[in-house]
Amino acid sequence: MTKLLRFIRTHVAVKLGLLLLSVFLLVMVALGNILYSLFLSFYLSHTTEELLQRAHSHAAVLSDHFDPLTIDHVVRMEQGSLFMVVILDEKGEILGRSDTITPLHRSYLKEAALRNQKEEYALEEDWRSKPFLVSRSSILGDGKAIGTVVLFSPTAPIREAIGLLRGMLLGIGGITVLIVTGILFILSRMVVRPLIEMKKVTGDIAQGRYQSRILVTGEDEVAQLADSINHMSEEIKFYQKQRNEFLADIGHELRTPLTYLKGYSEIVLQTSLSNEEQKEYIGIIHEQSKRLQRLVQDLFDLARLEQGDFSFKKERLSLEEVVTNVLTFVESSMDEKGIVLDYQPPNTNPFVEADPQRLEQLFINILENARRYTPQNGFIEVRYEGDVDHITVQIRDSGPGIPKDELPFIMERLYRVEKSRSKETGGTGLGLAICKKIVEVHKGEIRVESVEGQGTTFSVRFPLAKREGMY
Ligand code: ADP
Repeated sequence: MTKLLRFIRTHVAVKLGLLLLSVFLLVMVALGNILYSLFLSFYLSHTTEELLQRAHSHAAVLSDHFDPLTIDHVVRMEQGSLFMVVILDEKGEILGRSDTITPLHRSYLKEAALRNQKEEYALEEDWRSKPFLVSRSSILGDGKAIGTVVLFSPTAPIREAIGLLRGMLLGIGGITVLIVTGILFILSRMVVRPLIEMKKVTGDIAQGRYQSRILVTGEDEVAQLADSINHMSEEIKFYQKQRNEFLADIGHELRTPLTYLKGYSEIVLQTSLSNEEQKEYIGIIHEQSKRLQRLVQDLFDLARLEQGDFSFKKERLSLEEVVTNVLTFVESSMDEKGIVLDYQPPNTNPFVEADPQRLEQLFINILENARRYTPQNGFIEVRYEGDVDHITVQIRDSGPGIPKDELPFIMERLYRVEKSRSKETGGTGLGLAICKKIVEVHKGEIRVESVEGQGTTFSVRFPLAKREGMY
């Protein structure tokens, strides 16, 4: 029993089928019952009525002419019909009959002769168990009963008709069950099969088999769901691949400085070195640990930004103030390289809603990159552009530029144009990925344009803070 219940609970097609079947059967039983009672009441009342009327009309004719000729005439009238007529005199003696009288007929005849006080009534109405319906009618002469007409109608045809009706209803019921079973089969093919396939494929995805696909046919909700699962599988596969690549890259990034640290510290520890050499090697160790620290910090920042798990204050800030602050911070290192900074202030002070620290981090990353990749005696230009509700900061440098086919990827985590290029400059390949995230959380946009051999321009666009300080 519990197994059966479990089977029903776990199969949509069975649930649907049972529901359909119950509804169909309910409608069928109700309709059948209505049809059955209508037919019965109509058929029975019709037969009884006819029986009474016929007996009555025979009695009326005989009341007018109660003689052997009329009796014979009435008897002849019923000889070809389904009914059987018996005419009795006032004592109950048989004067005429249209068919053979059996003992069964006799009991009614006795009763009819006895109960002649009422003019006409049905003697027998039980069609189910009795062989006839019987009616009687008095023949009147001078206001007194002078005889009786008894009319018999066989009940077998009624039972046959009712049996036929029952058979028909049962037949329709059977056909309904067959149709519902057919619908169930089609339903299970249409709905349940794809569902089973989806269950299998999602199971495969959960176990890392992303190549598993659902065959999508049609455009209905089930097909749309299958399509979404296929799409989801593609996405997971893509992210999984990205994650694996990222982990491999991170491993590589961490291994390099660690190898330096281990190697040089061993040299310093084991060999007797001159002060000069010691200083040099410790300098390398210091550089590499700084690089390691920066990498770990960048990774940490990026992870927090991607999870959305970081403190993000929204303040009304002067964008120019943030940019000039950062510039004072990087300006001296630009001077060291002989880089000329061309700063063009905005016409009016643009205000944005932003987190001051994150915004600073964004401009440090971009300006540091510009400084790093711009050669000696190059230039960096900072300018603003704005419209009614946005402000854009453009940072252009005269560095080596970025090849066109690599431009779309430079903001991806750990992507570097030339591995050696940023190694020399101490980059981690995470800076621009962090910038992109920061801009995204501020509902801004970051774009990069570059011409190889001429330079690169980063444009960062933010929505202006409402009211004061429109650009
Ligand atoms: P990194 O810390 O290595 O500089 P980023 O994410 O900041 O990493 O930058 C990704 C890559 O984009 C860099 O490795 C570099 O090749 C390229 N890049 C970024 N800024 C510039 C620039 N101003 N000029 C030329 N190349 C740049």
